[in-house]
Amino acid sequence: MSNKVDAFVVAVDGPSASGKSTVSREAAKALQVMYVDSGAMYRGLTWKAVREGVDVKNAQAVIDMMGGVNWEIFVEDLILRFTIDGDDPTDHLRSEPVRERVADIAVIPEVRQFMVDRLRETATFGSLVMEGRDIGSVVFPDAAFKYYLDADPEERARRRHLELLETEGKGNVDEVLNSLARRDKIDSTRATAPLQIPLGAVVINTTAMSIEDVVQRIVADVNGR
Ligand code: C5P
Repeated sequence: MSNKVDAFVVAVDGPSASGKSTVSREAAKALQVMYVDSGAMYRGLTWKAVREGVDVKNAQAVIDMMGGVNWEIFVEDLILRFTIDGDDPTDHLRSEPVRERVADIAVIPEVRQFMVDRLRETATFGSLVMEGRDIGSVVFPDAAFKYYLDADPEERARRRHLELLETEGKGNVDEVLNSLARRDKIDSTRATAPLQIPLGAVVINTTAMSIEDVVQRIVADVNGR
């Protein structure tokens, strides 16, 4: 287990369904450090907006709602968790209404600033693996370890489709491909902190790799340096 004296950050960025969630979680476990899913925070705020009936395209309404929300952030079993106004939204974060709106919430600069501040605070808990879209570029530009995971769009759609079949029992590959393409476009063309390969990041194309191989690659790299 790391301590705060030699604490390190492993930043894992990439588009949706590039494999970064599973890889980051497993790499954190292998390294015995905390795992932080930054997308969950954006999804959490989106869940709250849906619940409150706030239109995510109305930036001012989202900002007003965000100002009145009480976040509790804590670590449980080396995983960063949070509640919003006392509710744990974990089970709802991958639902369709959240999935289809989260990229729109994530374009709002005030929302990004709020999340970046919260995410930086998590480093006070010790070493961590954090996954997202702007971790190596904005949240922790000085991270000791940076990776950018990618995969071909068809492979990403195939993976996400399998996930949907497991969680929702349904899903259509073409719809998934369209939904991913839409989110990719918003994420990589937004003005603030667009998805990009961070300076100094190791790029890993996971299309033909197993999860274990990618985890192994990262863990060996971190342990070897
Ligand atoms: O990683 P995940 O798919 O859960 O992220 C959901 C959405 O949250 C992304 O499509 C993106 O719009 C936003 N996000 C972001 N910056 C991050 C993490 C997620 O903009 N660091």
